[in-house]
Amino acid sequence: MNIHEYQAKAVLRDYGVPVASGAVAFSPEEAVKTAKEIGGAVWVVKAQIHAGGRGKGGGVTVVKSIDDVRAEAKRMLGMTLVTHQTGPAGKQVNRIFVEEGCGIERELYLSALVDRATSRVAFICSTEGGMDIEEVAAKTPEKILTLTIDPASGYSGFHGRKVAYALGLKGAQVKQCVALIGNLYKVVTEKDASLLEINPLVVTGDGDLLCLDAKMNFDSNALYRHPDIVDMRDLDEEDPAEVEASKFDLNYIKLDGSIGCMVNGAGLAMSTMDIIKLYGSSPANFLDVGGGASKEQVMNAFKIILSDDNVKGILVNIFGGIMRCDIIAEGIVAAAKEMDIGVPLVVRLEGTNVDLGKKILNDSGLAIVSADNLDDAAQKIVAQVKAAA
Ligand code: GDP
Ligand code: MN
Repeated sequence: MNIHEYQAKAVLRDYGVPVASGAVAFSPEEAVKTAKEIGGAVWVVKAQIHAGGRGKGGGVTVVKSIDDVRAEAKRMLGMTLVTHQTGPAGKQVNRIFVEEGCGIERELYLSALVDRATSRVAFICSTEGGMDIEEVAAKTPEKILTLTIDPASGYSGFHGRKVAYALGLKGAQVKQCVALIGNLYKVVTEKDASLLEINPLVVTGDGDLLCLDAKMNFDSNALYRHPDIVDMRDLDEEDPAEVEASKFDLNYIKLDGSIGCMVNGAGLAMSTMDIIKLYGSSPANFLDVGGGASKEQVMNAFKIILSDDNVKGILVNIFGGIMRCDIIAEGIVAAAKEMDIGVPLVVRLEGTNVDLGKKILNDSGLAIVSADNLDDAAQKIVAQVKAAA
């Protein structure tokens, strides 16, 4: 799960991480009020969307008067911001962040993530802040330092000093960096973050370290123990079909192919997607209906798959282990009778009572094509979609 920059900064502030003062605003009036409360002479108005690259897209503006705070707030709120991370459709800006401005001496890069290869939290840092780390990695990989922390021994000062020297920090900044990395390690582990990216981390005009941007992702499987983080979820930033699916406990991820998939079990869903690719088409989604696959659950899944206009055919691939194939077939038939599927439908069942299941599908009088195995099923749906095109 992702959160906004202003939310990430609030979490960081709680852990003693240096961030500038600021507040979220939903209207130009609120933005002005916040700027007045912060005081000073320079503010930064920042569009809050779950995507980076806002600076280049016109979503970050440094302003020097209250009138300009209002004008920028007016301009940004409601605008569609297009960045290299949003895709061409862009994202609508519904909230902005008004922050105290600061002078920048240097822009650095710092992130922490869970590194699966080493099973540790890894810190990545670079002197090349403010640009995409992917670009730095491709062009000047020698400018990136990666350091992992052994969870058994935990964080110690030498980790922070290593980062500080790699970043070319001096004097009091080294001490600040040691504290910073320690606090970031604490927040990542305690909050079950999967990613924390500070780009840029800056050395201010006064020579202090300050986190100017913050992006945080959290491990969805650990959200049950972080209600404070769940409260920060912004459904406007998520795919509506995925939000709808999560209400029914369906694991759905939208993709950009044309064949909708309804499968039980994540592993089977992955292999179904692979085999669709093998036969020359592309999956429109990943969808794991879970163990139940009741009529209601099948209907919910059809609705969500069909809410995607790109879907030109559906492949149902269900293994009836605990759930019997005849029950599943009844669910599919009932769902198909109650709603207008309108695209070719191929069903492959395997497991307990499979013959009875197939008979129910064949006797239904519906245009359901039944398949014998995974190969057969993938070939049939790809052929049906091609024929219908
Ligand atoms: P992103 O483009 O979405 O990653 O947004 P950032 O928060 O990283 O902001 C983009 C850029 O705006 C930064 O790299 C800075 O150069 C600049 N910026 C952000 N905040 C300030 C500020 O307080 N003062 C100044 N001078 N520049 C800022
Ligand atoms: Mn940034």
